[in-house]
Amino acid sequence: MADAIVVERLSRHFGSKAALAEVSLRISKGCVFCIAGPNGSGKTTLLNIIAGVLAPSSGRCEVMKGLKVGYAYQHPKLSDELTVGENISFFSQLNEGEEEWGRRMVEAMGLGELMDENADELSSGTRKRLEVAVALLHNPDVVLLDEPTTGLDVESKEGILQLIKLFRKNGKTVVIATHQLDDFSGVCDELVILDKGRVAVEKGVKGFDGEKLLRVYSSAVSKD
Ligand code: ADP
Ligand code: MG
Repeated sequence: MADAIVVERLSRHFGSKAALAEVSLRISKGCVFCIAGPNGSGKTTLLNIIAGVLAPSSGRCEVMKGLKVGYAYQHPKLSDELTVGENISFFSQLNEGEEEWGRRMVEAMGLGELMDENADELSSGTRKRLEVAVALLHNPDVVLLDEPTTGLDVESKEGILQLIKLFRKNGKTVVIATHQLDDFSGVCDELVILDKGRVAVEKGVKGFDGEKLLRVYSSAVSKD
């Protein structure tokens, strides 16, 4: 399978601190790729560099030419002044959204009935679903999801998993950063575990259940 994203000896410093140190990995087209690791291990920094919103200190990160990227940030910026529907129209215009695909995202995230609600009055779970939907309105080929299940109830988590499966079925590449790896059992094809900015494990994990994923995780991450 062709690579969608190639990362080579990528480092990023903040002052004297190395958030990423010599990270190398390849993400195949059409796979669901999980980046796991504890808080502060560099997951968001890596997604930011892949998305092109942060520059590396050294090394290379390349997204293959012609691929559209969609990025659901860990701390995104919805407009609190607007309703759900107005947020969707706004971000759709901003990102050259595709109407039919946008409708599917709204449907998939269960937002159809909530279009007139004010964004600042949504529960945290609904807000997260809106944040994911607005990042994907332009039908991207590469989907970056940062902690997409944090703070979600079981039902909303299931919605996110269904969405990830829909993406995979459509041949898209999905990159997930998470400290809750077991949420993605059954959808995760490839796994990288970051520990203090370094790759501790890179492994194919197709078909691994939650327990098996957690076993890989706990053997990789240092305890201190
Ligand atoms: P994760 O997403 O795995 O929790 P991050 O990529 O957010 O980790 O952060 C990795 C490390 O880099 C942390 O120690 C964090 O404090 C530091 N860091 C991230 N962004 C910045 C920034 N803008 N300025 C200073 N330090 C940062
Ligand atoms: Mg993060």
